[in-house]
Amino acid sequence: MIDGYGRTIDYIRISVTDRCNLRCVYCMPEEGVGPVAHEDILTYDEILRLAEIFAALGVRKVKLTGGEPLVRKNIEALVAGLRKIPGIREVTLTTNGVGLEEKMEALAAAGIGGINLSLDTLDPDVFEKITRKKAFDEVMRGFHAALAYPQIPLKINCVPMGLPGQDVTEVARLAKEYPVHVRFIEMMPIGLGSKFDFQSEDFILRLLAARYGEYQPYEKRLGNGPGHYYSFPDFRGKVGFISAISHKFCDSCNRVRLTSQGYLKTCLQYDIGTDLRKLLRENADDEILQRAVAEAISKKPKSHQFTENVGEHREMHTMSQIGG
Ligand code: SAM
Ligand code: SF4
Repeated sequence: MIDGYGRTIDYIRISVTDRCNLRCVYCMPEEGVGPVAHEDILTYDEILRLAEIFAALGVRKVKLTGGEPLVRKNIEALVAGLRKIPGIREVTLTTNGVGLEEKMEALAAAGIGGINLSLDTLDPDVFEKITRKKAFDEVMRGFHAALAYPQIPLKINCVPMGLPGQDVTEVARLAKEYPVHVRFIEMMPIGLGSKFDFQSEDFILRLLAARYGEYQPYEKRLGNGPGHYYSFPDFRGKVGFISAISHKFCDSCNRVRLTSQGYLKTCLQYDIGTDLRKLLRENADDEILQRAVAEAISKKPKSHQFTENVGEHREMHTMSQIGG
């Protein structure tokens, strides 16, 4: 599907829940976000129906997100269902790693095509400060459980916050010791993220070079998204950056988002899109759904304006409600 600015949209992030078992300070308030009633959340059958519509319009890759996708029961059944849809070539998942150890076997059997594990620090105390939960050991068990499936690519996502003790060079060490890529994601001023400063790619690269030596840009593409990567001497994986602020990548944006309540969001920063749950529950046929999706995508904004004051249509939800 081509949007109004000539970009091919072939990737969708599907949020399966607003709920989460962690409370990352830049993503969710301590008390959580007002619980959404179960009936307001799309059922798996509804998600699969919409996925068929997206696939018919050219979506090829799906990333399951949340909230925390592993808190939704039987997530592996959704993975397996998505894998059966003609046109969908890849189904991946982003998780905080809580419960991953127990789920890994079922996810692998369902055909998961990759796991992104969010991990901002390797220090258990700093982990607790960031996530407000004591779950570091459990997350690391999830990391090792995922490593046991070398055919399923594993990436680590880290949001540098400049918090004392959050040694990002330690997180990067995972790419030295294990066959994983570590990506640093610039803090985005969405929801609670706007309370924190971001640490730029250039700053992090200087820290990494001081510890690990000179790096080389890695020219080949890795993954579906806007990350770009560097090779460090003797590292098994690459170190990547998703730098929405300092290296804006909207010109090559290939994605849209479906919230857990069935709203198709066409840009991370804005609330612009269309309510597909409403159409689904009014028994809209495939043609009506396809038209609604195509029309929303044709109006996808040209770019975010995180560094400007956008006023109208600015996204007011937290990242846990959007899915990252
Ligand atoms: N709970 C899952 C997880 O943590 O991977 C999936 C949802 S979470 C919202 C997806 C990603 O968004 C995580 O890697 C998280 O670090 C990132 N994220 C949340 N708020 C952010 C912000 N304000 N700026 C940049 N990334 C953010
Ligand atoms: Fe939960 Fe992920 Fe948000 Fe952390 S980043 S609070 S793990 S949804």
